[in-house]
Amino acid sequence: TKDQLTKYEKIEAFVKGFKLSTLTYKRVMTLLNSEMKSGLTKQTNHVADIKMFPTFVRSLPDGTEKGEFLALDLGGTNFRVLLVKLHGSDVEIESKTYLIPQRIMLGTGKQLFDHIADCIGKFVKDHNIQGQKLPLGFTFSFPCKQEDLAAARLSKWTKGFRCEGVVGENICHLLHEALKRRTNCDVEIIAVVNDAVGTLMSAAHSDRNCEIGLILGTGCNACYMEDLDNVGLWEAADDDHPQQVIINTEWGAFGDNGCLDFIRTEYDRELDTYSINPGKQIMEKMISGMYMGEIVRLVLERLTMEGLLLHGADRECLLFERGKFYTKYVSEIESDHDEFFANTKQVLEELGIENFTTEDCKIVKYVCTLVSARAAFLAAAGLATLINKIGRKEMTIAVDGSLYRFHPRFHNLMCLKIQELIRPGQKFKLALSHDGSGKGAALVAAVAMRLR
Ligand code: ADP
Repeated sequence: TKDQLTKYEKIEAFVKGFKLSTLTYKRVMTLLNSEMKSGLTKQTNHVADIKMFPTFVRSLPDGTEKGEFLALDLGGTNFRVLLVKLHGSDVEIESKTYLIPQRIMLGTGKQLFDHIADCIGKFVKDHNIQGQKLPLGFTFSFPCKQEDLAAARLSKWTKGFRCEGVVGENICHLLHEALKRRTNCDVEIIAVVNDAVGTLMSAAHSDRNCEIGLILGTGCNACYMEDLDNVGLWEAADDDHPQQVIINTEWGAFGDNGCLDFIRTEYDRELDTYSINPGKQIMEKMISGMYMGEIVRLVLERLTMEGLLLHGADRECLLFERGKFYTKYVSEIESDHDEFFANTKQVLEELGIENFTTEDCKIVKYVCTLVSARAAFLAAAGLATLINKIGRKEMTIAVDGSLYRFHPRFHNLMCLKIQELIRPGQKFKLALSHDGSGKGAALVAAVAMRLR
């Protein structure tokens, strides 16, 4: 009817900012490419938002790696300690997850590393491996300037962490000191990597075509194998290692200089204003799991305020509270495939909304699809930029993170958009990578010990 038409037109006006043309994504790629280039160049790195950190990981695994390793995984929702046993293609992992309470995430560095050391102490005792000097791979998924494989200085906290006294410090040193203070564990820290690198290493263990690692979890980041000739930042002496190094792009910071403002919506701006790191991690905030649900919530809140949605919602309900619309809801809602909207209804009920119509459900789902598609397309534009840059005919991209794992359409949306954005004739595959932060970190340590 005419009335409905105008209502949908009104809704469209509030969400059209999420619909970007292929040309716009190509413009994003051009900007990203030039930011990556200035990140790699010594003279311009200090002004680039994308830091393109050389990781000191020089070689991918070849499948023959052996040995027992401890691995740590810190960088998002949980902290894990793992015992990884590599025997060729066979990998055994035992792990335990420990909670990091928010008071520690926002406390001091000393509290954080003491907590980590205590967890390691417990793990080592529970697994009866006190006596052994185990090599350790540390997956620490925050932007770090790497000075060596086992020396990394934190450049800034992201993703909800803000511990005092850690920025600028060598995190291996902090871990080492805490282990000495709190335990009598004898470990040798062999490598610090981030989760993107772990993801790439883990998948490359069985797929020789793997060149790129991507994380779509709490945060968003990518890494890839680059020729040393292209890395102006590389200052280490010549050696007989392969003339290549994995670059940790830290592309989540893309847009921090304002270059993405032309695609940001009012909802992106509001989310940023209320985040603990305003103005930072602009690309990450448009893509990753920590933020996607909140963007959807802000749109739904706006539409409700405008009288276009959820007339039955009480102003006291959770829909109007920051952070209460989880990204997993987006996956659940988009998994509804019929007009019954079972998941959508359940989410609305969980938010404390009692009266809603089928039309409300349809609009809520529509908003989710727009926000998640923009996220998937932006991630695709990032990958397409890397694929074009690497220029190989065939490539596998290793992907990990709950957003990629559980969102029903992310994989397909990304594949479609990458295909549109790369050069004709190039082939790619997106492959789910398992245990990046455990197996991947152990593999980095194993490869490093083989090379030394
Ligand atoms: P990490 O913290 O190591 O990145 P994950 O890969 O599990 O860990 O990512 C956690 C993020 O994934 C959280 O921001 C969460 O909102 C999001 N997430 C969890 N479950 C789902 C889901 N079913 N669909 C989409 N996103 C999810």
